[in-house]
Amino acid sequence: MVEIGRRMYDKNLIAGTGGNISCRLPDGSFLITPSGKAKGRLSPEDMVVIDEGGSVILGKGRPSSEFRLHTYIYSARNNINAIVHAHPIFCTAYAAAGKPLAASILPEIVLTVGDIPLAEYGTPSTLELPGSVEKLIENHDAILLKNHGVVVAGKDLEDAFNKLEIVEHFAEILYAAEAIGGAKPLSNEQIDRLMKVKEIMK
Ligand SMILES: [Zn+2]
Repeated sequence: MVEIGRRMYDKNLIAGTGGNISCRLPDGSFLITPSGKAKGRLSPEDMVVIDEGGSVILGKGRPSSEFRLHTYIYSARNNINAIVHAHPIFCTAYAAAGKPLAASILPEIVLTVGDIPLAEYGTPSTLELPGSVEKLIENHDAILLKNHGVVVAGKDLEDAFNKLEIVEHFAEILYAAEAIGGAKPLSNEQIDRLMKVKEIMK
């Protein structure tokens, strides 16, 4: 988690004390980054262990104020073991503009993260935020949070970070394409062929 935080900061995916990272521990508790600290400069002792209700089991600091978003996603998806939440420039710009990211522009996105839908706005740190992703998290690993940022779920920390990086890269490509007339989506037939490839790759 220390390493992922550093990578998020180095890649300009977070700023100041923003963003948070967590992973599921084998005993059913969760390791989460602390509130109010820069995630690019954390040490292992800064991390906090919480139970599914957010009560601190181990650690000196306060857990991330977004722990409810994390614990909700773990309860909804038992194949998810790591979550990163960030405010990267291009993802957050699309989230602020109220525009979801349709995967059908690039084969790599269709094959990896899929569509990145836009969740309704929810007040940060409250139950409104997990409520906003409730209908989407079942079928999507990456979700834009309206007027806020992005949350990405993965099978492990590396997977969650990779998807976050891919989604932000994709948002930047879409933004660049807008400047030269807009991205043209793949045809339904091209998507169908890709979905067959995806089945084989499973
Ligand atoms: Zn946030």
